[in-house]
Amino acid sequence: MNLLEVSGLTKRFSPEQDPVVDNVTFAVKPGEIFGLLGPSGCGKTTTLRMIAGFEMPDAGDVHLGGQCLLAVPTERRRLGIVFQDYALFPHLSVLKNVMFGLHRMKNPARRNRALEVLLLVGLSGYEDRMPDELSGGQQQRVALARAIAAEPELILLDEPFSNLDAALREQTRSEVRSLLKKTGMSAILVTHDQEEALSVSDRIGVMRDGRIEQVGPSEEVYHRPHSCFVAQFLGRTNVLLGVGHGAYADTPLGELQISEPRFGPVLLSLRPEHVEPAASNNGDAQGVVTAREFKGHDITYKVKVGGTEYLAHTEYTRYFAPGESVRLVAREPAVVLHEDVHNGCCDEPESLCPKITALVM
Ligand code: ATP
Repeated sequence: MNLLEVSGLTKRFSPEQDPVVDNVTFAVKPGEIFGLLGPSGCGKTTTLRMIAGFEMPDAGDVHLGGQCLLAVPTERRRLGIVFQDYALFPHLSVLKNVMFGLHRMKNPARRNRALEVLLLVGLSGYEDRMPDELSGGQQQRVALARAIAAEPELILLDEPFSNLDAALREQTRSEVRSLLKKTGMSAILVTHDQEEALSVSDRIGVMRDGRIEQVGPSEEVYHRPHSCFVAQFLGRTNVLLGVGHGAYADTPLGELQISEPRFGPVLLSLRPEHVEPAASNNGDAQGVVTAREFKGHDITYKVKVGGTEYLAHTEYTRYFAPGESVRLVAREPAVVLHEDVHNGCCDEPESLCPKITALVM
C-alpha cells in the first residue's frame, strides 16, 4: 500500500507553452524517502507545490493515505514542509518557532512536544536562541523539527541543503536521513544534486522537461539507467555505440558483455569505475592516456581511443603516464540504454547511418 500516489499530474502556466509538469506519476511508500531529482527548471518545485496545495494542477490527482487531496486546503493536508531558506520566524526563539507548528495544541502539551522534537534533532539547550544565533545546519534542523512536530504523514523537503556550505551539507544530509529513518517519517526530497539524491533517498524519480524519465531505487537508477540523460545526469559515464550480438556487443572498446541481450545497433553506458586501464602487451594497446586526475583514494584516467576520450578509474596504486599506450578492460557489463540509436543523428536510414556503418564494418 502506498502512502502518497501522484498520478498524471500536469501543470501549464501559459496556454501557448508546453506544460512545466507533464503527466507526472509516482508513489511514495510508508517510511520511504523519495528523491525528486532533475536539472534546474525541470518542474520539481512545481510538482511539490501541487502536492502541498500551493498550486492547482490542470490534470491529475494526488492521494495521501487513500484520500484525494485536491480539494483539501494546504493546512489540512497533513504535510510538513521544509524550504530551502528554512523560513524560520526571525523574531521568535527556537522553541517558539517549533511551537508555532503546533497551534492546534494547548500548553503545556504544546511546549512539551516542541521540547521533545528539539531533543530528537539534537537541539536541546538551544530553546531560547534566536534563529540568527544558529549555524545554517542548526537552522535547518529547527525547520525540520517544526515540520515533524505536528506528526505529519509526509514531509516535503525543497532543496533543504542548498544554503549550506559543502562540509556542513554532507553532515546535515546524513543527519536528516537518520532522523527521518529514526522517526519512520516518509518524505519527498527535491534536489538538483545527484549525490544528495542518491545518498539521502531510498528511491528516486529523475525528472527532465516536466516528465519523469525513470523511477527506481537509488542504486538501480545509478547502475541501470534507461536513458542517456539519466546515465549522464547521475554521474560521469562513457556512452558508446555498439552492435549487439546477444550477450555481447562490438564497440569502439572491443567486444563488451552487455547488461541485457541485444541484436543490432545499441547505445551503451559504461561508468568510469566499471572500466580500468591496463598495461598493453604484445601490441594490443587500444588507446593513449591523455590525462590523469589524482583523487587520493583513486585515479581517473582519460584515454583516447579512435579520436574519442573515455574515462576509466583505477585504485591509487596503478600509475600510467600521459602518453602511455594502454588497453581498457571492462569490469562490469556495459548497460544497455533504452534509446533509439538512430534518433535524428543523421538523415539517412539506419542501414546507411555513417555512425552505425562505421561500427558494423
Ligand atoms: P529549480 O531547481 O531551479 O528550482 P525546478 O525543477 O524546481 O527548478 P520549477 O521551479 O518547478 O523547476 O519551474 C519549472 C518551470 O516553470 C520553469 O521554467 C519556471 O520558470 C516555470 N514556472 C515556475 N513557476 C511559475 C509561475 N508561477 N509562473 C510561470 N512560470 C513558472
